[in-house]
Amino acid sequence: MKTLDELLVDAEVAHGHLCAGQVLGVRLAMRGLELLGIDDPHGKDRKRLITFVEIDRCATDAVGVVTGCRLGKRALKFRDWGKVAATFVDLESGKAVRVCAKESSKALARQLHPEIANKNQQQMLAYREMSNDNLFTEQWVKVVLPPEELPGYKGERIVCAKCGEGINFLREIRREGTILCRGCAGEQYYEEIL
Ligand SMILES: [Zn+2]
Ligand SMILES: [Zn+2]
Repeated sequence: MKTLDELLVDAEVAHGHLCAGQVLGVRLAMRGLELLGIDDPHGKDRKRLITFVEIDRCATDAVGVVTGCRLGKRALKFRDWGKVAATFVDLESGKAVRVCAKESSKALARQLHPEIANKNQQQMLAYREMSNDNLFTEQWVKVVLPPEELPGYKGERIVCAKCGEGINFLREIRREGTILCRGCAGEQYYEEIL
């Protein structure tokens, strides 16, 4: 496993800047991997890990950098809960651990470094120094992953009866004998401009 400093350099490159969220995200992912006993996520442990992230902010990019889990590999899952938390699933052992940043960590950063006025700088330094106990809550959990959620799973591709667009396995909706994509079934996130 790379050191915190090495991972922060990688995170800065991937994210475009170094910020408190990067430090928190790197520490959070390091802690998750440590608890699972995974020390080479980019090498020999490459295919062992699935990560669920619960927020779409800075820390998430850092979690991706440390774990090597990516959306395009089906190894990074996003659950929009607005929490600085992630669940790390070890496919080899079946174990999973959820790590969540403590709300109290901001106040503790203020206490530790009152001499630093800039909040981001203050938290960046404090989040490097604070113990895992002060930064995170941890819980062992069980995550059920059906085959189609795993990286590399290949299945049938079918076509939506309404729009004619192709859909990957098991993402379709079957309604009254018809196969529909999620959009045509009413889950559209956009409105068509006519
Ligand atoms: Zn950032
Ligand atoms: Zn459709």
